[in-house]
Amino acid sequence: DSARKTPTLKCGRTAQMEIEGGSDSKPILDLHSLDDNLVQKMVYDALVWSSLHGLVVGDRNVQRSGTVPGVGMVHAPFALLPTVFPENQWKLACEVAPIFNELVDRVSLDGKFLQESLSRTKKVDAFTSRLLDIHSKMLEINKKEEIRLGLHRSDYMLDEKTKLLLQIELNTISTSFPGLGSVVSELHRSLLKNYGEHLGCDVNCTPSNDAANRFSEALAKAWIEYNNPKAVIMVVVQPEERNMGGHAIAVIYFRAGYAPTDYPSEAEWRARLLMEHSSAIKCPSISYHLTGTKKIQQELAKPNVLEKFIDNKEDIAKLRKCFAGLWSLDDADIVDTAIEKPHLFVMKPQREGGGNNIYGDDVREALLRLRKDGKEQNAAYILMQRIFPTDSATFLVRDGSCHKDHAVSELGIYGAYLRNKDKVIVNERSGYLMRTKVSSSNEGGVAAGFAVLDSLYLT
Ligand code: ADP
Ligand code: MG
Ligand code: MG
Repeated sequence: DSARKTPTLKCGRTAQMEIEGGSDSKPILDLHSLDDNLVQKMVYDALVWSSLHGLVVGDRNVQRSGTVPGVGMVHAPFALLPTVFPENQWKLACEVAPIFNELVDRVSLDGKFLQESLSRTKKVDAFTSRLLDIHSKMLEINKKEEIRLGLHRSDYMLDEKTKLLLQIELNTISTSFPGLGSVVSELHRSLLKNYGEHLGCDVNCTPSNDAANRFSEALAKAWIEYNNPKAVIMVVVQPEERNMGGHAIAVIYFRAGYAPTDYPSEAEWRARLLMEHSSAIKCPSISYHLTGTKKIQQELAKPNVLEKFIDNKEDIAKLRKCFAGLWSLDDADIVDTAIEKPHLFVMKPQREGGGNNIYGDDVREALLRLRKDGKEQNAAYILMQRIFPTDSATFLVRDGSCHKDHAVSELGIYGAYLRNKDKVIVNERSGYLMRTKVSSSNEGGVAAGFAVLDSLYLT
């Protein structure tokens, strides 16, 4: 019977699914039985496709790359085939996207909540402290942001044991890969179209991904709301971010400004303050930026906090369902547990961009050190339940070569939000990003070389 021959594309759940009778009868393929010639053929096609369709990044090995357009490019790292993902969990992640958009907006309006929640972090984290200073100055002059634009990405992992889709974090600044993420989905759809018969796959199981278009549309709509045809959109990038030109600015998009290294001198902080002062629409405003910190994520997960910002009980329940365990380090019991079982936790400072978290035995060491050094430093970190996603065999393509390895995936759902005073102009889910990393790595930056861009195969 055909249901019994329904193994999964990348997820070693075949045996279990057979016992359970299979989830459904969608034709999906067993990666382990893939013929090597077929894999090589697909890799070749995928590399050609990437060059033709702009699935490329600057090549660090080429000196003039990044300064001369069209020179020194290499394909972005990608998974050869999309990763199997349960459709019901995908739908849930999509459903909560507009609710998270609304939550960010509501929280951003509560200046007191942001200042108080981060007051102790401010004392021990110089970077967060500078951001809070800008925020306080805006509160003092009662600065109102009437047009508010958010381009967010909420990230999730599917916890294997509990089968829960748990939020890793909510990014409100400089959310990466809406561009390349969309292109990878197209690459996979093209491969499934061409090889679907050999693979026994259905191309319609990979959802199309319009993240890039949706984000540019939201930016354009913000520009329209600003209502000055002569004004431009300014994009703040690393490393030359002081170039403001002689134009009126309608929208400032921060592709940089999230990391301490983006502010090498006082000049950058002055520029950030100036931009916040201006009438331009900031994406994100300082309040949106602060709302995306890990500390605020942890505060929002406390009992009865979501209720302050959202009225609809069902919406609250949906958000809460995807909250993982989150704790302040002031919780002595949880710190005891984490010292005893450090591998069940992740310790996070208030940073973005990957590579900042603490895992495993280092968690124990860090917590013991903090115990000795006194309470103050506690506020720099939060503790989070470690999520263990299902590990599965994957073909990772990097630098023109394909390797098979065990990997886990993180799904990001983009969300765009635009409002002008009481009028919500955009509040939508805007495509997705699937990143897959070798399971042996704690964190898997795509740029750092551990993760690849990926898409979904819904089952
Ligand atoms: P950043 O803002 O630097 O991206 P994240 O909170 O996303 O910070 O953490 C970086 C990476 O660490 C994630 O992409 C994920 O791979 C891993 N990670 C973070 N939190 C957890 C967790 N609770 N369980 C397992 N892995 C996690
Ligand atoms: Mg982040
Ligand atoms: Mg992240």
